[in-house]
Amino acid sequence: MRLQCDFCYHHCRLDEGERGLCSVREQKDGVLVTRSYGELVALAVDPVEKKPLYHFLPFTKTLSLAMFGCNLSCTFCQNHQISQAGYEKEHVYRHVDAKQIPLMAKEMRCPSVSFTYSEPLVWQDYLMEVAAACKEASLATIMVTNGTFSEEALIRLKPLIDAFNIDVKGDEQFYREMCNGSLKPVLRGLDVLAKGPAHVEVTTMVMETRHSLENIRTMGRLLGDLGVQVWHLSRYFPRYLCTDPPTSEAYLQEALSVACLSSIPYVYAGNSSLGQGTSCPSCHTLLIEDRMARDAGYAKPLDRGVCPQCGAAIYGRFQA
Ligand code: SF4
Repeated sequence: MRLQCDFCYHHCRLDEGERGLCSVREQKDGVLVTRSYGELVALAVDPVEKKPLYHFLPFTKTLSLAMFGCNLSCTFCQNHQISQAGYEKEHVYRHVDAKQIPLMAKEMRCPSVSFTYSEPLVWQDYLMEVAAACKEASLATIMVTNGTFSEEALIRLKPLIDAFNIDVKGDEQFYREMCNGSLKPVLRGLDVLAKGPAHVEVTTMVMETRHSLENIRTMGRLLGDLGVQVWHLSRYFPRYLCTDPPTSEAYLQEALSVACLSSIPYVYAGNSSLGQGTSCPSCHTLLIEDRMARDAGYAKPLDRGVCPQCGAAIYGRFQA
């Protein structure tokens, strides 16, 4: 009998022995299973800013982990070694029981655990087991995802994840040509999640050759209308199968200028030497001077989530 996986928008229907588009989920002995459950291909401690999350527990560390796999096939994938099907056999896996993760996070003084590097949607059952253990241990949970949720996944994940960074890669044509994917489920997911209570930040990797300034303008309008508060525009560099030249700092600056005209109050550059500071959107007081220089510029009163100058609320969670 064919069984349908509901971990992402593809909703693959699988016969016995067949694998989904992600090559991670398969039907085995009459049930759907996640291959290599709990076998991690990455486990590391990162600054939370690296996710990137700039308004969620800033200046803290997060225990970051990944199993193998992804449900898209972006030609420019920055982590293709641990996401794309052809590479899976090259990896050394390390089995980690879900209940061990919160203990490790506490030992490493991380107030959060991040599901990241590959696409956590395709190993969602392990993610959920770890996230539930983190909740019991009063640790925050972070999911860095391409956002191609199924409706079922959205319902399952919403209560378990405290902060999302969601990729919005381009328009529908970009998803079709470059990712074998679709923008529609991503916007649907954002529509649900940006309403809260989870914290949401969005990242777009800007390709000078593919994203026109008009594209950026349209994306800014769409994201602003959905209630997105934080948008990271990061510089593209050639990786994997994509040989388009890197995005210049000058073009990223132009894209940022366009993005700043949207209704999104916090816009940041990524993979760039351009400024990483946060200003109050109301009175423009500089609140966080430079994230590259740890401690320098971090305004303590932000712990209360308000601008110390004018009292305006600053989007985010600033205390563990
Ligand atoms: S996770 Fe997505 S791509 Fe993988 S089998 Fe399930 S529905 Fe298909």
